[in-house]
Amino acid sequence: MSTEKLAEERHERPRDLPRTPLSWGETFMQIAETVRQRSKDPNTQTGAVLVSSDNRVLSLGYNGMPNGVDDTQMPWGRDDEDPLNTKYPFVIHAERNAVLNFRGILRELAGSTAYVTHYPCNECAKELIQVGVRRVIVARPYLSAVGLTKASERLFEMAGVQVEMTTTTTPGQDT
Ligand SMILES: [Zn+2]
Repeated sequence: MSTEKLAEERHERPRDLPRTPLSWGETFMQIAETVRQRSKDPNTQTGAVLVSSDNRVLSLGYNGMPNGVDDTQMPWGRDDEDPLNTKYPFVIHAERNAVLNFRGILRELAGSTAYVTHYPCNECAKELIQVGVRRVIVARPYLSAVGLTKASERLFEMAGVQVEMTTTTTPGQDT
């Protein structure tokens, strides 16, 4: 909803009644969209938010180099004969970073929901399943050259993880 529309709606509502807030789903996806802006990747910026079943934010992640690795000294390209001159061996994906950034007890992730800005690659799908994520809410479809999202779909389905797309935009080709 546009800012004007929201303002209008608030104006029309009596001041002694509660306003209509963002839904939890919209809130968490907006957090994912915000945190992806932290990424230094020049081609693709992704974000992930892990949320408990009682709507508490458990962890945040975006795609980037490991801690202590100087981003300015690393390759960020996607195409090179030598894979060591691409970003792929070095960058940690948003979903994995969200799992790794979690500072609680791992069993608290069981039954959680992941809000992700891009459809997870197969490696992240495996990790989300394995830490007990039961729902994945996805803002964008994704056709990845190396991400094998078809494998993700198969894994999520077989593991009984519920996947919901919030948009039907054309898939991006980057990763
Ligand atoms: Zn991934």
